[in-house]
Amino acid sequence: MSFDKFKDECGVFGIFGHPEAANMTYLGLYALQHRGQESAGIAASDGQVIRLSRNMGYVADVFDAETLAGLPGSMAIGHVRYSTAGQSSVANAQPFLIDCAHGQMSICHNGNLVNATELRDALVRQGSIFQSSTDTEVILHLYARSRAATVEEAVVDAVSQVQGAFSLAMMTRDRMIAVRDPHGFRPLALGRLGDAYVVCSETCAMDLIGASYVRDIEPGEILIITEGGVRSVKPFAPAHVSQCVFEHVYFSRPDSYVFGRSVNEVRTNLGRILAREQYVPADVVVPVPDSGVCAAMGYADEARIPLRMGLIRNHYVGRTFIQPQSAIRHFGVKVKLNPVKSILDGKRVILVDDSIVRGTTSRKIVKMVRAAGATEVHVRISCPPTISPCFYGVDTPRRSELIAATHTLEEITTYLDADSVGYLSLDGLLSAVGSERESYCTSCYTGHYPVSFPHDEATYLQLALKLDKGEVVVK
Ligand code: SF4
Repeated sequence: MSFDKFKDECGVFGIFGHPEAANMTYLGLYALQHRGQESAGIAASDGQVIRLSRNMGYVADVFDAETLAGLPGSMAIGHVRYSTAGQSSVANAQPFLIDCAHGQMSICHNGNLVNATELRDALVRQGSIFQSSTDTEVILHLYARSRAATVEEAVVDAVSQVQGAFSLAMMTRDRMIAVRDPHGFRPLALGRLGDAYVVCSETCAMDLIGASYVRDIEPGEILIITEGGVRSVKPFAPAHVSQCVFEHVYFSRPDSYVFGRSVNEVRTNLGRILAREQYVPADVVVPVPDSGVCAAMGYADEARIPLRMGLIRNHYVGRTFIQPQSAIRHFGVKVKLNPVKSILDGKRVILVDDSIVRGTTSRKIVKMVRAAGATEVHVRISCPPTISPCFYGVDTPRRSELIAATHTLEEITTYLDADSVGYLSLDGLLSAVGSERESYCTSCYTGHYPVSFPHDEATYLQLALKLDKGEVVVK
């Protein structure tokens, strides 16, 4: 059942130097489940051999005590996936594991490579045989073919040839390697658990296992973790840092620190600034749960209007929910959200959400709130209008399906049947993330893309992915 949201991308986790590495990774992935629900996997090394277990489904369904017992060793990496590149099948589930001239190598990837198709075509012409349809496998092929003398040099050789978004956790039999692309699109944090080292997409994974956050892995940094300690190398040419601002708006958990900032704090700020920019008199502020809650709290606080949970979410609706043949209108939304009549009846309502993608769900929610007796419904969105697709690891619809790309504010208001619709400004969004506003990617709000694609990659993006001719603008 589509809920008309951008889809989360992937989550990566790795731990080095812990006697229960696979168990810790299982817990870490559990905390990162919101970043991908299609497949999960863990690779673990006992110093001699890397073993792998991966399958389709939630972390809790993929692993049990027996599977985890089959993954011995003090080092492990793990992955939860939502397919942003490549199809949804177990062949595409990560980690990947290969054995090549450099020995065994396992990899987990969060992000999308923008030149994967070109590289893959060239590799296939040279005789490479691919096992999956993902961009991640390209990195492994480049690594395996590298003539560099050492593992580290071969990793540098491989990742220097790919472009786009990549936060990677890699592992040989005796070392862990964490890589963040020079633009730093996707997060990757370093932590400690006793003597063990942890790398993960979000700090909420560290909280669950009792690890402490040390720092972010920097854009363009490669960390090599061995028995001898941690070494950092920065082999990439300097690049404009473009951290995904949507991690703060929607993807990351509010209890995480991402890009060095509290997600809850940023998200609450978004709501405060939204209230200043898009104030409207009303009786209650109602969040669209769960992702609109922090922004709604900020809005209510700033506007001095009471916050009420006027929509209740059913948390037990899985991704496999099949909409039955039914005459009930808007069944898909109703099974997930239910209005609280005693809160909404006779009230002027400000409905706060984090984004509008196609508008279909927002329209149903407005209708639901009106049916519960609201006299006015004002929709407030804690980010600017989404007008362009993402190519850096977030699953977005085609540009022509994004309501804000094809409709004016007035038309959106009419379509949603709202009394008013108000978005946060780009300036408001950037001021909420603090003083490093230049270091964020905002492409889905501006249509300006920070990574310049190779010439025919732009054609690829236009034709094969999400854009129509002439829509790619390179910064
Ligand atoms: S285009 Fe949007 S979703 Fe994609 S990386 Fe940039 S800010 Fe994030």
